[in-house]
Amino acid sequence: MVDYDQAGRFEYARETMIRQHLEARGITDPEVLEAMRAIRREEFVTGKYLSEAYADRPLPIGLGQTISQPYIVALMTQELRLKPDGEALELGTGCGYQTAILARLCRRVYTIERLGQLSESAQAILGRLGIENVEYFVGDGSKGWPEKKEFDRIMITAAVPQVPQPIAEQLKEDGLLVAPVGGDFAQDLIRYRKCEGRLQPSMICGCRFVKLIGEHGFDE
Ligand code: SAH
Repeated sequence: MVDYDQAGRFEYARETMIRQHLEARGITDPEVLEAMRAIRREEFVTGKYLSEAYADRPLPIGLGQTISQPYIVALMTQELRLKPDGEALELGTGCGYQTAILARLCRRVYTIERLGQLSESAQAILGRLGIENVEYFVGDGSKGWPEKKEFDRIMITAAVPQVPQPIAEQLKEDGLLVAPVGGDFAQDLIRYRKCEGRLQPSMICGCRFVKLIGEHGFDE
């Protein structure tokens, strides 16, 4: 929770972030920029890092995990080309910041987090912000959404050695998937489109994410 004085400072920092780190670096989709304006990153950052809420870098959220860098959140969201009446699957709820951005840009978000404590805290924050179009699941996201379901948009917010097979299967034909793919230290951010059952990659940029740990991800 943030008091009134802080709120003004955060608003200024948020606008500066939008101009310097997003618009100046090629985030042009007005819907994405609107979502980045509307979701207050300070709500997702813990006390010690509050003053850095709008620094363009990942910040620790506890349990060895991080909240992603704002530019990367905006870039991945822009690359996913969400549809207002569509659904999206997210792997790696973390603190829920990216989830909140997705929830603003499509009808329903399904999000999976391996660590129950992080999912609970994300649910509490999104609940407080009045974001209700999200389904949460605690478990190994590399195995896909637990019920048989297909998605036309999927975002993986933790590093994977390759797109987990169950996730590739849950992507609809002509659907888009954005993921950091590579080693456990550095990855390529890649957007895939499913064409005739196969994933066609396009490279976006280099990146660094924490690992997706699971049956079709990395070992712990
Ligand atoms: N989306 C977040 C960043 C998440 S960091 C943001 O908005 O900032 C990556 C998250 O993936 C961590 O919370 C980690 O616990 C989670 N994770 C790791 N392996 C996972 C798995 N197999 N299934 C689901 N979540 C996983």
